[in-house]
Parts: sequence; structure tokens; C-alpha cells
Amino acid sequence: MKRIGTAILYTLTVMLVGCGAPQRVDRNSFHMGTWVVISVYNTRHAKYIEECFTLLANLEAEVSTNIPDSAISRLNSSGQARLQGDLADILRAAKLVSDASGGAFNIGVLPLQRLWDVQNRLDGEQPPTQSEIDIARELSTTGIDISDDGDALDVQLQKGRGLDLGGIAKGYAGDRCAGQLKENGVNRALINIGGNVRTVGDGEFRVGLRNPRGRAEDLFGLVTVGECNIVTSGDYERYFQTDGIRYHHIYDPETGKPARSGLLSATAIGENGAFADGLSTAIFVMGREEGLALAVNMGYDAVVVTEDYKVYCTENIRASLEIVNDEFELVSD
Ligand code: FAD
Ligand code: MG
Repeated sequence: MKRIGTAILYTLTVMLVGCGAPQRVDRNSFHMGTWVVISVYNTRHAKYIEECFTLLANLEAEVSTNIPDSAISRLNSSGQARLQGDLADILRAAKLVSDASGGAFNIGVLPLQRLWDVQNRLDGEQPPTQSEIDIARELSTTGIDISDDGDALDVQLQKGRGLDLGGIAKGYAGDRCAGQLKENGVNRALINIGGNVRTVGDGEFRVGLRNPRGRAEDLFGLVTVGECNIVTSGDYERYFQTDGIRYHHIYDPETGKPARSGLLSATAIGENGAFADGLSTAIFVMGREEGLALAVNMGYDAVVVTEDYKVYCTENIRASLEIVNDEFELVSD
């Protein structure tokens, strides 16, 4: 099935709990290959949404591998750079999640991403050959050196290597937008970047967790949270299907193939958007037990859905998680 990427508009069930009739204003705009929906709950705050869209456009121009003259594309073609600012901060977060996950999260996967190119393959197409995968896997897991002198990052990439921030930059972007809104005095907002959700302000939010085998608006659960990031990675975002096998866009750096961890989706919940985004990808690669343990080690919560529609979560979030689709069963470990 040819996927149109994540351009489907995510609807999100968010009810604000415990407040008067909010004057909610939603605005959407297309960034980073997906629809971004930003909601504020006071008409006077609507003007600050545009500033977030400008921020996203500027950030995308720096960190998108889909833009030929972006900073990350220039780094990938030249093989070296000394970086500061947003790009450096994203790489620092990526290194932290990569180290914590034993390399399951790995921004070096650009060669694998380019080889598999799942969103441009049609159902029934043959996957890459094992020798092509072996070459791309080698290029994705070796020859990348990032050193940090505290002031800037020095990055050295050997020939054929490349960095891909598709698994972490949206989470970082959500926090940057939240900061921008709060600077303007916005005390309650919701930012949804293609399924990466960032809540802003006190009070509770009930955030929908997508049914990984349903349509975009179908949920398997609702989680009640305060101000945080709720980021999901799943095998339903971008994939092609051949001989009954679904080849999706989250690669296991150990095999060079789409991760086969027994999960359909992994949601990470926590304070830092880049960490939550990288963590959701890492959990999807690592699988349920190791992935939930990693979340706890990082001080984050997580909810995973297995191939047999069982739902597992970290203990802290269990009381706030409600299953709303009886095809799914919340399992206590
Ligand atoms: P996540 O799990 O959050 O991330 C999966 C993505 O991370 C994969 O697509 C791959 O890029 C990378 N990845 C795969 N395996 C691993 C791993 N083990 N460790 C680390 N990373 C991994 N899409 C378009 O179609 N057109 C665009 O122009 C476009 N521009 C973008 C610009 C930016 C700045 C960003 C952040 C994304 C952009 N995208 C674009 C979307 C991007 O290509 C990914 O599809 C998307 O970010 C995946 O997010 P996810 O939540 O589905 O999955
Ligand atoms: Mg991610």
C-alpha cells in the first residue's frame, strides 16, 4: 500500500478536565512531512500559534534531510561540521537516548532509510537483498564520530554515512513550540505534530492513543496527563506489504531490517520531547520488556501494544490509562 506518509490529519480526543467553557482555537499547518495542529484555549492566544508555525519552518530548514541545503544535509554531504544551537541540542539528545538504549535508537540510520525507502515502495515490491542490507547496516552503525566540548559539537562522518533525525526532531520541535507559547503567556495549549503530542499548562488533558490497526481517529486507549510529551511510534505510519510481511520505517540497527519486536506501537510519556520521541522509537525496536525497563530507567512512562493486542505499561501511568476498545486488554505484568 503506498503510504502518503504521515500527511493524514490526526484527530485527537482531548477533553480539558476541570475548567470553564474554554474558547478553544485550533490552527493547522503542514511541517516535517505531516500535519501540525496547535490548539489554544483563549481566543486572545490564537495570534501566537503563527509564531510556532514560523519556528517549525525555520527548524525544518535546519534539520530536515529532505531539504538539500539544510544544515543536516550539508553535514551529510561534506562529512563534517561544528554545530551549535538547535541541531547540536538535538544531536546531544539523540546521543543520550542512543547510549541509554544500547544503540537501538541510532540517528546514523540514513543509509538504511534511503535503502528501504518504504514510503515510496508499493505493496508487493521485493525488499532489498541481504547484501544491500548488510552494506547499509555497516554504513549506519560505523564511521560516525560526535564529540562535545560543551560549547559546540564536532561531527565527523566517514564516506557513505548520514544522520537522519526523523525519529527525534518532532519531539524537540514540540518543546520549542511550547516554550514559545509560554513566553507569550499562553497558559494552556495542545501541540500535535503528526501524532507527537505536547500539552502546555496546568490542569489535566485526556490524550487519545491510536489503535495501531485502526483508522487515524480510532483509539485503543485514553491517558490522563498534565504538562508533558506523549509520543507514539508504530508500524502503521509508513510501510509496504509483500508476501504478508509488513516492512515499516523503524529499523533495528542490529539487523538492518524493520524491527520485529512483537510490538505494533510504543508510546513514551515524559518531560523532554526529544527524549520521549527517541525513546518511543527505541522501545519499538527493543520490544516490551527491555523497552519498558528503559523507560523506567530514563524516568519516563510508556505504553506498548503487542501483536496480540495486549497493552502493557509502566506502573506510574497504569491508573491514568483507560482502555476504550475491548479488542485490547491491559495486562498487569
Ligand atoms: P519515529 O519512530 O519517531 O521515527 C521513525 C523515523 O526515524 C524513520 O522514518 C527514520 O527516519 C528514523 N529511524 C528509523 N529507525 C530508527 C532507529 N532505530 N533509530 C533512530 N531513528 C530511526 N516526511 C516526508 O514524507 N517528507 C518530508 O519532507 C519530511 N520532512 C521531515 C522533516 C523533519 C525535520 C522531520 C523530523 C521529519 C520529516 N518527515 C518527512 C517525516 C520523517 O521522514 C519520518 O517519517 C517521521 O519523522 C517518522 O516519525 P514517526 O513518529 O512515524 O516515527
Ligand atoms: Mg520517535
